[in-house]
Amino acid sequence: MNIKTIGVVGAGTMGNGIVQVCATAGLKVIMQDIGDAQVERGLTTIAGSLDRLIKKEKISEQDKQATLANISTTMDLADLADTDIVIEAATENEAIKLDIFKQLDQLCQPQAILASNTSSISLTRIAGATQRADQVIGMHFMNPVPVMALVEVIRALQTSDASFQAVHELSEFIGKIPIEAKDSPGFVANRIIVPMINEAAYVYYEGLASAEGIDEIMKLGMAHTMGPLMLADLIGIDVIYAVIKVLHEGFGDSKYRPCPIWQQMVDAGYLGRKSGRGFYNYADK
Ligand code: NAD
Repeated sequence: MNIKTIGVVGAGTMGNGIVQVCATAGLKVIMQDIGDAQVERGLTTIAGSLDRLIKKEKISEQDKQATLANISTTMDLADLADTDIVIEAATENEAIKLDIFKQLDQLCQPQAILASNTSSISLTRIAGATQRADQVIGMHFMNPVPVMALVEVIRALQTSDASFQAVHELSEFIGKIPIEAKDSPGFVANRIIVPMINEAAYVYYEGLASAEGIDEIMKLGMAHTMGPLMLADLIGIDVIYAVIKVLHEGFGDSKYRPCPIWQQMVDAGYLGRKSGRGFYNYADK
């Protein structure tokens, strides 16, 4: 495989997970975020995740140290200039992503691939913001990244076969199973799961059942391993809201209308597990 060094933009829920799996596979990874606190939090999460794997006797202390030794951090995007691929996992906001891709396009090596972990934003539009549209692609990891096998590999309209093959190979190298999808609002995974979570939020908003009741109904009745509202907390309330808005606007279909509770929860700072409160309270955990 030609990819040896990886830049990851964003050290949040997804970014630090992507860093962990790439570093565990032996690749050199530079994790970038906008602030010291975000980078530190990302590193602490990775260390905690590796400690849990040691406890479960899945890895040794030496494995943990080897993984951590493959990770460096920065707050300066320019430090990603020499990497073979950058995987962007910053906040789900189109303006932020377009700005990051324009900057990466300027500073990265001409042959470098620029991938986005976006949940819903058009890869074709992101690619169009660069001068290397054929080297822009979606690598949509699932949460939690170290646990979930899938990477949805999304081709922008402009993505070349060579870029697709390189990302396919990288996904397998880091122990994931890549599945190809075309660029369309929500791609495949979120086109299906997010409307279900949105409907669960409506059921909660209309007072038809408690959050626990809704989740238990879906777990016991449909054999889901996690109920939709707990899943929303895991994914992040702001992320779900951003994706359902993209589906609504992208298809212009009222079946994707966002439940009003998303805006309220975002305004209240109830972003799910990452903020300590969402449909459930995580303050003591
Ligand atoms: P998050 O809020 O946990 O983390 C986002 C991080 O991006 C934050 O640390 C923030 O400081 C950083 N950031 C913001 N602007 C930045 C910039 N200009 N440069 C560098 N870093 C910046 O969000 P997340 O859940 O990790 O989501 C990241 C991406 O992954 C989004 O596109 C999201 O849609 C996608 N995604 C999320 C999930 C999920 O379950 N949460 C699953 C698949 C994909």
